[in-house]
Amino acid sequence: MFDLTKDQIERAKSIHHSSLVVDTHNDTILHVITSPPFVTSGNGAPVPRRSLGEKSEHGQIDIPRTQMGGVDCLLFAMYVSPLYSSRLLRLVQMLDTFNIEVENNLDTISIATSYDEISKTVKNGKIAAVITVEGGEPLEGKIESLRTIYRLGARSLTLTHFPRNDLGDGSGADSGSHLTDFGKEVVVEMNKLGMIVDISHLNPMGFWDVMDISKDPVLATHSNCKALCSHHRNLDDDQIKAMAEKGGVINLSFCAGFIKDGVGFGNPETLKKVTILDWLDHLDHAVELVGTKHVGIGSDLDGGCGFPGLDDITKFPDLTQGMVYRGYSDQDIGKILGGNNMRVFKKILT
Ligand SMILES: [Zn+2]
Repeated sequence: MFDLTKDQIERAKSIHHSSLVVDTHNDTILHVITSPPFVTSGNGAPVPRRSLGEKSEHGQIDIPRTQMGGVDCLLFAMYVSPLYSSRLLRLVQMLDTFNIEVENNLDTISIATSYDEISKTVKNGKIAAVITVEGGEPLEGKIESLRTIYRLGARSLTLTHFPRNDLGDGSGADSGSHLTDFGKEVVVEMNKLGMIVDISHLNPMGFWDVMDISKDPVLATHSNCKALCSHHRNLDDDQIKAMAEKGGVINLSFCAGFIKDGVGFGNPETLKKVTILDWLDHLDHAVELVGTKHVGIGSDLDGGCGFPGLDDITKFPDLTQGMVYRGYSDQDIGKILGGNNMRVFKKILT
């Protein structure tokens, strides 16, 4: 894939193997849950239901492929579509499905709720699965729902999805509004609980409110650089710098539409315009802005993302080769692969 010497390829292998590799966002549970709507594949066809334990030809993440990709810790998003009349019930259904899948595969995967549990699980040769909730809709406007989803194991909340909700504006429905009072209350409570605030999807004004309010570092679990691709989902340079100043991490997604202008979701023809080099350009840009301590990987695989060359989780070692190719040091590659996110987990997930 890259013009690397044999030694460089060996070096990449050994860095990848010795690093704790973290992927901060996927939508795999939507492929596993037994009730619709399923996510659709790139060409709009519904995705067949799968299980976590079986290596499938469909979708992009399952346990066998995660092991092949040398990925150690995954944040599994529970995304609740606003179509549901009870979003909290839908979240309960997703959590139930996810727990059953994990229980069926306890020899290879474990749910982890703290930094220590993540470290121990990975040390024992298993995948550490962290539960996250994507979009504040399932809270249904009540702070007690937040505390309860924390007790059920969720350790991060993406405040909004694309639309506006009762926490604030998603970037897809940006009216220039601040976080609502409830949104602000949620951020304060998340800090108290030890839950990671995820600002991916949030509108700029809401983002700056989080910067003002949160006393902890925050993550963008799946966002890219606006300087290279103008999509409203991406973060501009000031936002990336502000996150870094607070100790946070921007995790770069494999969403082709967030990597290059003119590439659409669900359009396989335009996906071909994006290569792993373009992803590496986003990495280089973010590193140029804030150094190597504030950048990570948040694939958004199984969420309609990926492109030829980076189309499932088995391809993670190619990112490591790419970083060797672009001249990153062993230590910096280890940070980007997972060390930076682990630093945030250590601070918040106690
Ligand atoms: Zn998302």
